[in-house]
Amino acid sequence: MGQGFDTKSVHVTMKRKEGTPTKVTPIHQTSAFTFQNLEDIENFYNGEREYLYTRVGNPNTDELGQAVAKLETAPTGLATSSGLSAIMVGILSIAQAGDHIVASEDLYGGTYELLANELTSFGIEVSFVSFKNDLENAIKENTVLLYTESITNPLLRVENLEKIVEIANKHNLKTMVDNTFATPYLVQPYRLGVNLVAHSATKYLGGHSDITAGVLAGDEELIAKAKTKTVNLGSNLSPFEAWLTVRGLKTLSVRMERHVKNAAKLAEALAEHPAVDRVYYPEYVSEQGNGAIVTIDITNKADISTFFESLDWIKIVATLAGVETTVSYPIGTSHRNLPELSQQALGITKGLIRISVGIEDAADIISTMKQALDQAKK
Ligand SMILES: *Cc1c(COP(=O)(O)O)cnc(C)c1O
Repeated sequence: MGQGFDTKSVHVTMKRKEGTPTKVTPIHQTSAFTFQNLEDIENFYNGEREYLYTRVGNPNTDELGQAVAKLETAPTGLATSSGLSAIMVGILSIAQAGDHIVASEDLYGGTYELLANELTSFGIEVSFVSFKNDLENAIKENTVLLYTESITNPLLRVENLEKIVEIANKHNLKTMVDNTFATPYLVQPYRLGVNLVAHSATKYLGGHSDITAGVLAGDEELIAKAKTKTVNLGSNLSPFEAWLTVRGLKTLSVRMERHVKNAAKLAEALAEHPAVDRVYYPEYVSEQGNGAIVTIDITNKADISTFFESLDWIKIVATLAGVETTVSYPIGTSHRNLPELSQQALGITKGLIRISVGIEDAADIISTMKQALDQAKK
């Protein structure tokens, strides 16, 4: 079998020892697995047979974890109930009470809340800093982890992962990167030396806005610890959602190719529009392209309510990365609970709109966006 990215993403197949030779992996929609006898139970605990109880492990969730690990070029992976739970068990595999984490200040809003409100209550200390300017200064005696996103949300800053790994190695720290926006199609952080890569598979990996799931890929030792956390905290993924996510993975490459192409065209078209103050779109992410999200700021030149009311077939949602073009309003949703000073400092304004560019005809996306901006123009 070929080892190209596209080939790997299409040929997601678990190893199957016996049974009906189905082309597609069946859904193991079961909460538990049966045993022949007492010896068989012992065999589970000594590793001679797999599967006991779905919270502890299931063929479909294993298939997803391994498939994403392969795309990330990591030795192993783990599927979890959501992107946030993947981030949580990933961090807990590295940090415990008394430890300190340096996190980027411009994280996904939900991740910010997990770190700021929940992990701190476990006794884990977190500093949020600009990774561009203050990263090394923020490292303390008890720092164990540097945490960031490969492309940040919603302002699409592209992180210099090589530099972060270099700093981490110098101080003997672990690194963890949320690769949701880039996907392994664009960036493979593990290849650059990052220890753990987290995904909200709810987004591009699933790709169809019909599941909530997470995946973690990375160092064997850390994934083993994260797996124990997943079992003990009950943050396992359901077999059916794992199955749907694997189905999504098979078209990751072709979807991303179109998403990225359409996003580049839209970013270019909106840059010239008189109702737009600023377009955020990365200059360079990778040879495969510069991402599929375009963020615009229309605070000064347009009426934000009119814009949202003039979108025709483009839907308003609090998510991203489906095949349909959608828009979201960060200050009203994902970044609502960020302190106001941080919102201002980061540039999350009242007129900031995040566009998740879909796989429709680029001309339709551009003309629909343009007419909404025309109507909203002050
Ligand atoms: C959506 C998202 C998450 C959280 O994922 P869930 O699947 O909603 O738990 C984390 N990071 C990023 C960048 C996201 O976009």
